[in-house]
Amino acid sequence: MSKPTLAIVGRPNVGKSTIFNRIVGERLAIVEDKPGVTRDRLYGSGEWLNSVFNVIDTGGIEIGDEPLLEQMRAQAEIAIDEADVILFIVDGKDGVTHADEEVARFLQRSKKPVVLGVKKIDNYKQRDELYEFYSLGIGDPIGISGAHGLGIGDLLDAVIAHFSP
Ligand code: GDP
Ligand code: MG
Repeated sequence: MSKPTLAIVGRPNVGKSTIFNRIVGERLAIVEDKPGVTRDRLYGSGEWLNSVFNVIDTGGIEIGDEPLLEQMRAQAEIAIDEADVILFIVDGKDGVTHADEEVARFLQRSKKPVVLGVKKIDNYKQRDELYEFYSLGIGDPIGISGAHGLGIGDLLDAVIAHFSP
């Protein structure tokens, strides 16, 4: 049986590569403070409980000098084509942005299972920032912190629940 695939999508600088590295357990992706710094196409392998799966960091896919929304649409299309489950990452510090809403609508139309991860929820005080993300219509937002590994287990539980047994 071939491995299922998880694709990570989201705006530049929300923390996709940080979460990719944590899932694959290696520093394969380059994490930078500047938006759009991850340049290489990134595939890895992840493991959680009894599931082994491929992971794609679509932020690493070179799309060219398109406007942000076009780049995100192209990355989301790749995720929809290649993945069994999509991990949509948003930034808890920025709140819901226009680009997030566009990507959410696009992913919804695909009918692929989407798990919504809210990055930069670094402590329990910041958990109130999760609620506005219900407006994206993707389901329960799961708060995660790259810095402390908070919430990663809950996130991966939600991901593997969508893989067929
Ligand atoms: P990408 O562009 O979506 O791949 O984002 P990166 O993973 O490269 O991260 C962008 C920046 O956000 C880096 O400076 C990271 O250190 C920072 N970052 C990533 N995850 C978190 C998080 O959970 N909390 C905080 N405070 N910063 C984070
Ligand atoms: Mg990146």
